[in-house]
Amino acid sequence: QLRDNTIIIVLGASGDLAKKKTYPALFSLYSNQYLPTGVKIVGYARTKMDRAEYHKRITSYIKNADEETVKTKLEEFKELTTYVSGGYEDDESFRNLNKTLEEIESGFQGNERNRLFYFALPPSVFIPVAQHLKATCYSKSGINRIIVEKPFGKDLESARVLLGSLKQHWGEDETFRIDHYLGKEMVKNILVLRFANIAMSAAWDKNSISNVQITFKEPFGTEGRGGYFDEFGIIRDVLQNREVLRAIPPIEREDTLLGQYVAANGKPGYLDDDTVPHNSVCPTFAATTLWIHNPRWEGVPFILKAGKALNEAKVEVRIQFKDVTQGIFKDISRNELVIRIQPQEAVYLKLNVKTPGLYTRAFPTEMDLTYKRRFADAAIPEAYESLILDALKGDHSNFVRDDELDVAWKIFTPILHWIEGKNGPAPKPVPYPYGSRGPKELDPFIQKYGYKRSSEGYTWPVTNTS
Ligand code: NAP
Ligand code: NAP
Repeated sequence: QLRDNTIIIVLGASGDLAKKKTYPALFSLYSNQYLPTGVKIVGYARTKMDRAEYHKRITSYIKNADEETVKTKLEEFKELTTYVSGGYEDDESFRNLNKTLEEIESGFQGNERNRLFYFALPPSVFIPVAQHLKATCYSKSGINRIIVEKPFGKDLESARVLLGSLKQHWGEDETFRIDHYLGKEMVKNILVLRFANIAMSAAWDKNSISNVQITFKEPFGTEGRGGYFDEFGIIRDVLQNREVLRAIPPIEREDTLLGQYVAANGKPGYLDDDTVPHNSVCPTFAATTLWIHNPRWEGVPFILKAGKALNEAKVEVRIQFKDVTQGIFKDISRNELVIRIQPQEAVYLKLNVKTPGLYTRAFPTEMDLTYKRRFADAAIPEAYESLILDALKGDHSNFVRDDELDVAWKIFTPILHWIEGKNGPAPKPVPYPYGSRGPKELDPFIQKYGYKRSSEGYTWPVTNTS
């Protein structure tokens, strides 16, 4: 499905995303021979840079660049790349870009000319860029595609405006909207766990499952880069783009807990960051509960938690099963299926077994699948690598469709407007110390939805999982 005669154009090539994610992913795909034969890469941005400066920037985040084999590949990779400087709003700049593309293509064999445009740009310029690319840089003898990054708008209305404008120029089949979590190995794994295991799928509904927690924990605060964050907040930054279903109604205020971190352990609080407005009520922590109104999930709370400046870096899905209600095993730990997305990918099922010895008592343990141990030699691709490859192949399955985005915004927009004080006074987030698990109100909040921690006090005996 990969097409030869392809140019990948990175717009905003001078920026953070390009440097940290896009180019390292392209390099890794190139090194592993996943890019189309003869591919070329063109960077585009306003910043004036010579070749050396461009190469320095795009390779600064490439891992192990000092190793001989990587060095050789890197030199080859640099040869595929070109940089063009130009604006985002004027025809002349895009004509110039197109000229460069045509020059490169004149070295291709055959008549096919495919172009993949990657928008590593702030959304404020998406529309003029999309329009100019269509008018001036659209290949007439091949496939054209665009990749855009979240955030897609700030609420339902602004997302519809953005999407609507992009759609005037680019069809849904040509558009790939990245939410990079959808490219993560362990997120994709949920589908396999669920549909490839009878033992799992039989228990995958409201009859067996009590509650589901989806957690995104970051150990850092805004650290002097609070401008963007204060405008978007934790819900847009992390929660809004998650996988959704049409059967989810808008979130209720009472199903929401908002927090903001304060100084602790020598670390500054959110409001101590000079780049944050001094009286900001922007939440840096949010827990919200979604309800799916369909026969399978009716009554099962899906608790989403996300926060900055917490005690650990962790992204996981925790499916907690119901209590055993009959027989001799009362008050024992519940089964849980935990899918850890990062760090250290793992799937573990917390199971009760008989305590070794002469008594018959149930004891909480785990059936453990730590990826590093089970697949010791497997390289797990970065989300961006897998998504760029999908886009090159034209596979939409791990991207956000426009109708899904619309539904996601419908769920979150009322609560976002409430938080921003659009229809009354803005709620004040509760404080939590930097480096803690979150606000003290979190545990009662989760218990309200039926979550029970192991009654026996579950402990994980392994300290080093590597
Ligand atoms: P960025 O560094 O702020 O912007 C990328 C480039 O866009 C800049 O180098 C700049 O290049 C150009 N640009 C055009 N108009 C601009 C404006 N009004 N203000 C600032 N720069 C402007 O952004 P980014 O962090 O790379 O992110 C790009 C996109 O990916 C955004 O939509 C962002 O939300 C999303 N994203 C980023 C990350 C990340 O890790 N950084 C992660 C997930 C999603 P010139 O001045 O040279 O033209
Ligand atoms: P757990 O001890 O039952 O903890 C479940 C969750 O409860 C935690 O993730 C935490 O969630 C919350 N929690 C932590 N301390 C709490 C407290 N004092 N009061 C109330 N809630 C608290 O089980 P687990 O997290 O599944 O496992 C425990 C440890 O073993 C973890 O570090 C886990 O990574 C490790 N383990 C690793 C593997 C593996 O690598 N393969 C397998 C099994 C277990 P939040 O902070 O997110 O709210």
